[in-house]
Amino acid sequence: MSGAATGPVIQAQDVHKSFGSLEVLKGIDLTVDRGEVVCLLGASGSGKSTFLRCVNHLETVDRGFILVDGQLIGSDLVQGRLQQARPPVVAERKSRIGMVFQQFNLFGHMTVLENVILAPMRVKKESRAVAVERGVRLLERVGLGAKRDSYPSHLSGGQQQRVAIARALAMEPTLMLFDEPTSALDPELVGEVLDVMRDLAASGMTMVVVTHEMGFARHVASTAVFLSEGRIIEQGPPEKVIGAPTHERTRSFLGKVL
Ligand code: ADP
Ligand code: MG
Repeated sequence: MSGAATGPVIQAQDVHKSFGSLEVLKGIDLTVDRGEVVCLLGASGSGKSTFLRCVNHLETVDRGFILVDGQLIGSDLVQGRLQQARPPVVAERKSRIGMVFQQFNLFGHMTVLENVILAPMRVKKESRAVAVERGVRLLERVGLGAKRDSYPSHLSGGQQQRVAIARALAMEPTLMLFDEPTSALDPELVGEVLDVMRDLAASGMTMVVVTHEMGFARHVASTAVFLSEGRIIEQGPPEKVIGAPTHERTRSFLGKVL
């Protein structure tokens, strides 16, 4: 990434992605500006996860392109031709994108703090002292300073997900992607995770959030995007997309989740 703090954080244009004969993304155009919080809504199977996975290069797109901070993740334009970027370059670019999954994916044999400092030490070659200092600060930020030496299995799902958020933030990402971060949680634990995400949004982080939490989408998102069968069929301020949807499929979906 250029590190230049100008221009959109994500520019996706005409993104197509198929798995075998199944076309999952059928031409996605989406721009996410710095500091924007985009909530990606849509029925199961509409392609939300696939799109997020294309943004952080867990999947490669078949057609179209996605720029993050003005750059392709996996390749470079050299004298007008696309050239595959070297693996360390790709890794560095990917490290600027934090991702939080439905399943927290913490390392069970490591303490909370060890989970948070692992990537900065391994990928960024940070010293343990530097990584620990930031790690402790981030754990305090998500309300888990006292749990630094606990193991994930001793934490509630909500606490584990907050650790996962701190772990993603430890790489100092310019973009955070959330894929249904509260869907695996007991209802009483959803709020504490959404609160952390709300604080993160308020701090100016650029976020793309796949969620069925319509309260969060309404109150925190700057833009709501509704995906149906691999296409964006509705997009705009959440009060409009969620409050007064124009498309029948959006209305039908909202009727089920609200
Ligand atoms: P969503 O997150 O909106 O529920 P997904 O992006 O996970 O939707 O999936 C969209 C469609 O793509 C689904 O039909 C799913 O089964 C299919 N799909 C996703 N990933 C793969 C894969 N790696 N291989 C084959 N099919 C996949
Ligand atoms: Mg999904």
